[in-house]
Order: sequence, then C-alpha cells, then structure tokens
Amino acid sequence: MRVGVLALQGDVEEHLAMLQKCGAEAVRVRHMKDVDAVSALIIPGGESTTIGKLIHESGIADVVKKRVVKEQFPVWGTCAGLVLMAKKGDGQVKKTGQQLLGLMDFEVERNAFGRQRESFEAEVEMDGVRNFQAYFIRAPAITKVWGGCKVLARFDGKIVAAEEGSLLATAFHPEIGGDARVHEYFLAKIKK
Ligand code: GLN
Repeated sequence: MRVGVLALQGDVEEHLAMLQKCGAEAVRVRHMKDVDAVSALIIPGGESTTIGKLIHESGIADVVKKRVVKEQFPVWGTCAGLVLMAKKGDGQVKKTGQQLLGLMDFEVERNAFGRQRESFEAEVEMDGVRNFQAYFIRAPAITKVWGGCKVLARFDGKIVAAEEGSLLATAFHPEIGGDARVHEYFLAKIKK
C-alpha cells in the first residue's frame, strides 16, 4: 500500500512518519505524475493559500479531482488541507481569491478559533476513532455541511472532522502526538 503526502509546503515529514508507523509505504507527491503512483493522498497542514496556489500550478489539482470522480480516490486534508477540500470558503477565502479543490460538500472558516486560542490541545470525540488528543494550530472549522458530507467530530460547537465517501477532512493535526488512529481510519478507505 503506497500512500502519498502532498509535499509542496507544510507538515510533510510528520505525516510520512505516521504512515510508516501504520505499515504503509509513504512517498512525497511533488509532481502530477507522482499522483498516479499512490493509492491515497494526504494534504498536510501549512499555509492553505500557498499549498492551494502550488497544487493548481503543478497540475496536481486536476489529476486528483479526476481520480476522485473516476475511482473514489481517497484524499485526506488536515488543517490547511481541510481548507482546500471545501466547496465553499468564508469571506477570508473570497477576499484573497484563494483557489480551493472543492471536493467536499462543506463550507470552511479559516482561523476559526481566533487569536486568543491560536494553538491548543484538546480531547476530541471522533466517530470511528473515539477520544483523540487533538492539536489545533491556527485551525479552520467547518461551518456547514450538506449533500453527502457527514460530521465526524465537533469541538467548542464547531465541526472539526468530516467525511464524504473516500474523502476525509480534519481541522486538527493527527500527525502530531504519536497516536496513529486517525491515519489508520483513513487508510481503511483504500480499496483492497
Ligand atoms: N490557518 C492556516 C490556513 O488557513 C492553516 C493552519 C495550519 O494548517 N496549521 O492556511
């Protein structure tokens, strides 16, 4: 099982290490052709404006979107990656003209936890994973879901994890902290 981590910017190494811990072969995805060589893709945390720009410029966005439609390719966005998974952005997204992948039926709010709580750690109850020690770093939140999108976790009244078929989004950073259960949850989406 070979799983890719989008390696254009952000928390790439931590995800690679977690995937290895789960027994998967973990590779960096930097070019369009790399997407064809993996069975699933993680879009890491980082800066969503930068990752969004580079994923489109590299042509990776198109290949990923096509594989999702054609063969339910599993894609998981964490934090900045969650922002990119959204079909709809908040005012901040619109203001900066940032391009999203638009894969999942939800609306996102960037930096949803405010300046006072830029980074924090909290226990989150996530469907399919149960209690999970979650690290939030300038985290976004999902403000609304529709269609086939299902809420998996809420924190402070905000939606912080959701899934839609082969697609997963978490507002926190499961690659930090050493607990691989969210990675395992995602890997179970890969068709055997
Ligand atoms: N606030 C960042 C953004 O919207 C995400 C932060 C992160 O990924 N840790 O791009």
